[in-house]
This record gives sequence, structure tokens and C-alpha cells, in this order.
Amino acid sequence: MHNHVLRGLMLQCAIMKNAASFRRDLTLWFTRNARDLPWRRKRSPYATWISEVMLQQTQVKTATPFFERWMKALPDTHALARAPEQKILHLWQGLGYYSRARNLKRAAQHIIRHHDGRIPLTMKELLEVPGIGPYSAGAILSIGHNRKAPIADGNVLRVIARLEAIRRPIDEETTRRHILDIEAGLVPSSNPGRFNEALMELGALICTPKTPACGSCPVSRHCLAREKNLTARIPQKKRRILLTKVRAAAVILEHKNRFFLHRRPVGRIMGGLWEFPELKFAPDEGLTAAHAARLLKRHLGRPELRLRKITSLKRHYTRYAETLEVYRAKAAAGPKEHCGIWKSVWVPKNRLEEYPLSSAHARIRRLVLDADRGLAKPALTDHIQ
Ligand code: SF4
Repeated sequence: MHNHVLRGLMLQCAIMKNAASFRRDLTLWFTRNARDLPWRRKRSPYATWISEVMLQQTQVKTATPFFERWMKALPDTHALARAPEQKILHLWQGLGYYSRARNLKRAAQHIIRHHDGRIPLTMKELLEVPGIGPYSAGAILSIGHNRKAPIADGNVLRVIARLEAIRRPIDEETTRRHILDIEAGLVPSSNPGRFNEALMELGALICTPKTPACGSCPVSRHCLAREKNLTARIPQKKRRILLTKVRAAAVILEHKNRFFLHRRPVGRIMGGLWEFPELKFAPDEGLTAAHAARLLKRHLGRPELRLRKITSLKRHYTRYAETLEVYRAKAAAGPKEHCGIWKSVWVPKNRLEEYPLSSAHARIRRLVLDADRGLAKPALTDHIQ
């Protein structure tokens, strides 16, 4: 028996005492209320894996069309292992964290090489696959293979913390492990994947982060946070790191209906993706069109251009909150294409959509194409996650 399960069985927690009726209440509710999601229609370890990686960085509604496109283009590990990186990045474009998309390919190649293309059935083997961590491994085992394994999903952590009125921060490793022990003790031997999914669904639909709908909760009679009037104070999180504010500019450079794009060097953040030229500013530097034009001249070695501001995007990454000012300029003669580390090309407008871009630059491209078709004017500020 798994260690988690043994420890879970020994725990003296409230729901464990009524585990059978808790499971019954929860799964009955799930049977009646589960959302019809594409990865639930035809369950497989591969579909679970892909959907869980997508859901780590975006909401169900956003992930759905991405998942459907992905499964059509790359329906199994063999297709994923063979796919060119450009195709994978294109399918992932807009989801962010592009290293995850590249890791999926590496993982598929590992699975072909070591497991004949079949996604492993043990935690140990799954954790050896590049890019698969304990969370994805738990989801694949439990939901994909229907094995008895806990899932450290954010929804599950929150629901169990409330059910047991756990006041310690759920993002602390010891609390997380304690909650996983409880979950492991609760997961039944028959249809464990369905039970875990039900717990996740309860967190997504009823026991939501800010305003849990306790009045319609199928397991409210088992909930200590509700009994103690603590639902608004649980879960606790560790204090957040303050984000450093930074500023940058992106320039849409146009020449004879072509647009200038750089390819980011592989090995750097968002490596391999294309973008419009970006200029970084020191925190104390003023950010005006004239200043950006001077910097662009230094950067590309072209005569100073007249830049027109299009919009301002907010994006967050690691410890930074960045404001990205977006300018557009027509170049009389374009800078040269080149093939160095920062490969750069002039792309005809009708081929612009073929290039995989980061979320912010994909948004810029859409603004340009929509504006040129007379479809929409960009908002003054926009937020990129
Ligand atoms: S009663 Fe409220 S806090 Fe407790 S599990 Fe249900 S929704 Fe969450």
C-alpha cells in the first residue's frame, strides 16, 4: 500500500470518520452536476495529461478550444513525439509558458523510447518523464489510469483545508503533504479517478476561492470550516512576493506590407518564439514615442522613425509586472534580415499568423490585423496573463 494511503488511514480527521457517507454525497452530486468537458468525453491517460498541463496555466473555458485543436492535430504520444517544434508552439500559442509545450514533446519522446509509447502506470516511472511533476503524475495515474493516487490540485487543497478547518498556509510543503495524506485516505478503491475529479469539480463550481456556495454544497454537513464559521478565512496562503515594476516597448515595424519579426534565442525565456522588436527601459527612464524612436535607431541602426502609440499592455512574469507600450511605424527602407542568434525576418502580412508568438505579441498581431481590416480599435490598456 502507498505511504500516503497508510498515513491517511491513520489520520484522525473529521471527514475520515464519516468517509463512506462523504464519498456517497460527493459522487452523487458529481454524477448529477459534472460539466461536459472535452477531456471527459473520451478519457485516456494522454488526454488527461494534455488537459492538466493546459489547465495549470489557464481556465477551463480558455483551455477547451486549445485542447480540441491539440487532440485533432496530435492525438497521441507518437504524433506528439514526431511533431516539429514550430507546429507544437503554434498549437500552444496564446497559452503562455512555452517551455511546457516543448517539455511535452520531450516527454513524449521519452515515453516512446522507454515505454513503447504507453504512458507509465507507476508514480516512479511517471516522475522520470521530463516535465512531469507530482501534480501531473497524480492526475495521470488517478484520472487517466483510474488508479488510487492523490492529486495535489489547487481546488482539492482548498476543499480539504476547509472541510478540515486547516488554518496553516496551504502553499507550505508540510500543510500540502498533510492534506494529501487526508485525500489519500479518502480516495476509494473503486473508481478512484472519478472521486478525485468530483473533489476538483466541487472546488471549481461550489467551494470556490472567494465565495464558497455553502448553501448548495453537497458535503456541507461534513465541513468544519462551515461549522466554525471560518470559510472566509480558509485557505490561508503565505505572504506574496511584491512584483517589481518594469517597462518596455514593442515596435510594429512595417515596410511594403511586411512586418519585422525577431526569433528569440533558444535557451532564453520564451526561446524559439517570434516577436516584434522589443526595447527595454531602465525603471527611471521616461517612456515617450521620441525616446523609443531614438532607442530603436540605436537597436536597428536605421534612421529615426516616427512612432505612433497603439496601446499599452500589462503582463506579469516571474517577479515582474511589466507595462509594454506598443508603437507602430512605417520604415522607408527596412532593417536587414539576418540569421544570427536573434534571427530576424520580414514577414508578409498574409503570413503573419503562421508564426508562433508569445501571448503579448500574439495580442499585438491580432490588434494589427483587426485594425487593418477595420474590425476593431485597440483599447488603451489591455492585460496579458
Ligand atoms: S460547506 Fe462551504 S466551505 Fe465547506 S466544503 Fe462546502 S462549499 Fe466548501
